[in-house]
Amino acid sequence: MIDNKKPILVTGSSGYIASWIVQYLLEDGHHVRATVRDKKNKKKIDHLEKIGTETKGKLELFEADLNLDGSFDEAIKGCELVIHTASPFVIGKVKNPLKDLIEPAENGTKNVLDGVNRSGGVKRVVLTSSVAAMYSDSIDVSQTPKGVFNEECWNTKSNLKHNPYSYSKTLAEKKAWEIHNQQNEWDLITINPSFVLGPSLSERIDGASVDFMRSLVNGKLATGVPKTEMGIVDVRDVAKAHIKAGLNPSAKGRHILAARSISILEIAKILKENFENKYRIPKKEVPKFVFYILGPIIAGLTWEWVSKNIGYEIKFDNSKSIKELGINYTDTKETLVSHIEQLEKSNLIFNK
Ligand code: NDP
Repeated sequence: MIDNKKPILVTGSSGYIASWIVQYLLEDGHHVRATVRDKKNKKKIDHLEKIGTETKGKLELFEADLNLDGSFDEAIKGCELVIHTASPFVIGKVKNPLKDLIEPAENGTKNVLDGVNRSGGVKRVVLTSSVAAMYSDSIDVSQTPKGVFNEECWNTKSNLKHNPYSYSKTLAEKKAWEIHNQQNEWDLITINPSFVLGPSLSERIDGASVDFMRSLVNGKLATGVPKTEMGIVDVRDVAKAHIKAGLNPSAKGRHILAARSISILEIAKILKENFENKYRIPKKEVPKFVFYILGPIIAGLTWEWVSKNIGYEIKFDNSKSIKELGINYTDTKETLVSHIEQLEKSNLIFNK
């Protein structure tokens, strides 16, 4: 049992998902230690400080970097629950996958968990992993025993060149289980969200989720989208799942979070129904062969990615998240519409 009075650490708390975790914890009156890379970066932390003044819990900000050994130690001291969300989330072309993705994800996780071991008081770690640690490409679903991704699945196909972000999440989660298995002081729960959408608490537009939603309405994808499917889940459900995983004594192991599978065109249709002719929302799917020709030039997509991800349906088994964490998935329309409304309210649809 976690002592509710002790501080709870949330790493990467200026991020899209973590900001909601911090908000819910503070609303519930918890004492939150929130790590950020730079306390002076107002754009990244203003919203956290505001939440801190408007909620009944106590917020303390700490500076910590995944690339610096021992960086999280001070913030961890005295915590029984550590929620580790910090990790670079970049899909598409990355200049140096090793430096920009793998090292901060894998070494950063080791860095946080070494700090957890040194602290001596931590009882549970909740790690934000991803379904990207469970599969590399949509085609992989055909190799699962029941044609559905579940908590038994591991991504064995990503590497530094092919889906390096997915590779970084796989290595980070594996490292976490490896370190966990060498001790008996704390248990490890992983949350493995599919693509996370829904309103952001900050006005940042540098995150992959926010960037995707903007591209559906700002005209960037107006000529058409690939016929590809993904799992999606509301950011507020993801935040609640982390807290339930942290505080529910019977939670164990990995947890897929996916409200449903959906194609990009279906997402666009829902947006079209709700925002009429206000935006240049994609209306059609572009044939696969066009992506073979133009994908590498326009969108940085490799032939391997195109061949293994366009034209396949995928499925996720979300039953464990419902049964064990009590997740009541938000309706997709609410997720998508409220995300666009938040961007509109902050005047971020077209603005850079
Ligand atoms: P964000 O980009 O908003 O958040 C990422 C966070 O990681 C930021 O707070 C960022 O800090 C921090 N971070 C990155 N590099 C470092 C570093 N070197 N040292 C310290 N902190 C660092 O993305 P999300 O909120 O979407 O992602 C949060 C987590 O959820 C990640 O682990 C991601 O892999 C995972 N995830 C996300 C999904 C999604 O669809 N959004 C789906 C599945 C998993 P800073 O604020 O300073 O930039």
